[in-house]
Amino acid sequence: MTKLLKGAEVAASMKEKLTAKVAELKEKGICPTLAIVRVGAGEDDLAYERGAIKRLEGIGAAAEVFALPEDVKEEDFLRLIRRLNTEDAYHGILVFRPLPAQISEEKVSRILAPEKDVDGMSRENATGIFLGEKDVPVPCTPKGVLEILDHYGVELDGKNVTLIGRSLVVGKPLMMLLAARNATVRLCHTHTRDLKEACADADIVITAIGCAKAVPGDIFPEHAVVIDVGINTDAAGNLCGDVDYEVACDRVAAITPVPGGVGSVTTSALASNLIEAAQKMADRKTTSSGEGMPDLFYEAHSLADFAGELAGAGPVPGGGGASAYAGVLAAALCSMAGSLTLGKKKYEMVRTDIEKVIARTAEIRGDLLKAMQADAEGFYPLREAYAVPKEDPKREEILENASREASKAPFLMMERIAETITLLEEMQQKGSVMLRSDVACGASLAAAALTSASMNLYINTKGYDADWARDLVQKADDLLAEYLLRAEKISREIMETLR
Ligand code: NAD
Repeated sequence: MTKLLKGAEVAASMKEKLTAKVAELKEKGICPTLAIVRVGAGEDDLAYERGAIKRLEGIGAAAEVFALPEDVKEEDFLRLIRRLNTEDAYHGILVFRPLPAQISEEKVSRILAPEKDVDGMSRENATGIFLGEKDVPVPCTPKGVLEILDHYGVELDGKNVTLIGRSLVVGKPLMMLLAARNATVRLCHTHTRDLKEACADADIVITAIGCAKAVPGDIFPEHAVVIDVGINTDAAGNLCGDVDYEVACDRVAAITPVPGGVGSVTTSALASNLIEAAQKMADRKTTSSGEGMPDLFYEAHSLADFAGELAGAGPVPGGGGASAYAGVLAAALCSMAGSLTLGKKKYEMVRTDIEKVIARTAEIRGDLLKAMQADAEGFYPLREAYAVPKEDPKREEILENASREASKAPFLMMERIAETITLLEEMQQKGSVMLRSDVACGASLAAAALTSASMNLYINTKGYDADWARDLVQKADDLLAEYLLRAEKISREIMETLR
């Protein structure tokens, strides 16, 4: 008799654990919150969104939807992602795909913060899956498939798995994840000549092609377990999978129904990834609170001390510190322009917006100082790495690791400074005209800070022909190209009104 692999049963068993984890986080004052970014209002996206929100609320977590129009400009879309990357209120970001043609998924995959990416979209996480790294969030649908197989005790080790569909969202990551579980995987796609032959020796068949009932139900061996990922609509308008279910369901050992199969577990997988991201964010905060940290360069220094050291002859992590301080000053000027505007009656209408700008600049200043600290921390291992004797075979590896670590803080600074420029634009539009010169001054400092931080990043990535370096350089190039122009525009426009 064919066993029905119902998703609801798997989701129910996951729910208890997920609810307990959310409760634990809430005791620490953290409510795991997902930012859902949706372009347009496609029926599939809306259905998934409703399911995700229901699932998250059901375990005590939360979600906020950022719905953008179908014709949203790429730069506006990327700006939203950058903002969400930096806002602590969101622990995870889910971007609905496919995106419309004017938005490059490739660009999004480069800028989406890996630590907030809950669906394996960022390049870093996608690469991590292919490298078999353990600590990487497994994309939701592949995770849902694995949860079903595990829940129903379907052994993977040594088994033949035929996977039909090679998309980046489902097929390709699943192939690597199944191989990592010691399955023998055969990947089929539109050019596969004979699907029946490809399924002939399969113990498990997984379909993810997106064509209603396109996989004939009689091509599977009787002992096969069939997992149908597809969610399609048939000619009569009913939901159905990729497999011709009516034919398959009495012929195989086990099968997932559609609806009621993989789709019911994907949102639990999403919830699990969100909780994990929130937990990691909390852990990072504890370790970066300063407690137990070595007595580092910056901690005991005022700005005057720092400038003195910088002008001296000793080696100090100067460039990073200078970039951070310039960025802090830019954010402070933005905040000042906001606070002084708030006192004026004429600007009462924009009070809430300006209050938000002020609150955000305070966070940015804190983040920049933390990045400055991290920059100092990265400086010493780098100096030690350079001191490793040239003949030591491990020297190159030690140097590359130290350079990679040391590149992170300047990039973080660049992101925060770019956001400061966005806030300065907002102040240029909404703030008191009496404070224009402060906004322009902030923009000039932000431009200098951004350029200076990019130098630190470029010097640490230079000479490395590796993905980590290429990715960072690309991201830095993009930030520079966009935000230097924007900062310059603020200064120029304001200068024209002042002269
Ligand atoms: P996609 O269109 O990006 O990729 C489809 C893949 O299937 C391609 O690699 C293509 O080569 C292959 N393919 C298409 N027709 C084929 C055929 N006749 N024979 C062999 N290979 C064929 O789709 P996707 O985003 O991977 O989604 C696939 C299906 O899974 C869709 O129905 C989608 O709605 C569903 N889906 C479900 C969930 C869930 O939670 N259950 C999540 C994501 C996607």
